[in-house]
Amino acid sequence: MANSAYEYVKSEFEFDRRLPPSNWIVVRIDGCHFHRFSKSHAFEKPNDKNALRLMNACATAMLEKFPDIVFAYGVSDEYSFVFREETEFYHRRESKILSLCVSYFTSVYVMKWKNFFPNKELKEPPYFDARAVCYPNLKTIRDYLAWRQVDCHINNQYNTCFWMLVKSGKSEQEAQLVLKGTFAKDKNELLAQQFQINYDDEPAMFRKGSSVYREKVLLQVMVDDDGNPIKRPRLKVIEAHVDIIGPEFWENHQHILRE
Ligand code: ATP
Ligand code: ATP
Ligand code: MG
Ligand code: MG
Ligand code: MG
Ligand code: MG
Repeated sequence: MANSAYEYVKSEFEFDRRLPPSNWIVVRIDGCHFHRFSKSHAFEKPNDKNALRLMNACATAMLEKFPDIVFAYGVSDEYSFVFREETEFYHRRESKILSLCVSYFTSVYVMKWKNFFPNKELKEPPYFDARAVCYPNLKTIRDYLAWRQVDCHINNQYNTCFWMLVKSGKSEQEAQLVLKGTFAKDKNELLAQQFQINYDDEPAMFRKGSSVYREKVLLQVMVDDDGNPIKRPRLKVIEAHVDIIGPEFWENHQHILRE
């Protein structure tokens, strides 16, 4: 394309931030005003299963769309997407990566809404913010994911108690006062004694959040001359609700965060 007299507005004014090489890139998106959004769409408290499943379906669509995303972790209205360390996705341009991730996720959220809420109309456009953070080695990226899962645990334990107290007749303010200054052990006791709930029996999706990644599975690719299925190992995007803080998951899935 010929340069026009106006070309300088691009060449002299546009600056691209490129994310540093040899770093894992994490894009974390978070729903804007989902406190209100969850109220206006009557999400079940503290955890609406369908809303979480919709978030997970969006994350799966992200891994299917963008091969350089190797892992995703989600809880509540947020999702973290980990790009492989040596990705050259859009030459690591931050604004491209962020805008593509957040717009694709949001579009899928809107498109899939009716699959998860067939009887609920989408009343306002959901929207998400996004940030990118770089982690230079395996320890820091593992610690990042552990940080999010610890946060999931702390919040979910608090919210489970809070909503049990509210559903049993306390005002939100009273429930807050009951929980003020309590430790994890106290909250587990409160659930057991007042509500006969063993926290460890709560659904794993609530307690552990959701991890999305590729796993080798045997898929039927065709049939042989005798009509027997021929299976081949293929990578499939799967969801799991497991501990990602300890070493076990990562020892069993070394292909995910390969340096
Ligand atoms: P911000 O715009 O600053 O992110 P926010 O209102 O989205 O504000 P968050 O700290 O992100 O605040 O918290 C998310 C809110 O959305 C919480 O209030 C949470 O209860 C609600 N929420 C998100 N997902 C669900 C769900 N699956 N079920 C019930 N509530 C949910
Ligand atoms: P990239 O992903 O690099 O932006 P692109 O295919 O979107 O690739 P653009 O340079 O952004 O390429 O051009 C937009 C394309 O979309 C053009 O091919 C244009 O013809 C088509 N397009 C956009 N809006 C319209 C429209 N209203 N009517 C017809 N065609 C359109
Ligand atoms: Mg939010
Ligand atoms: Mg949030
Ligand atoms: Mg275009
Ligand atoms: Mg590195």
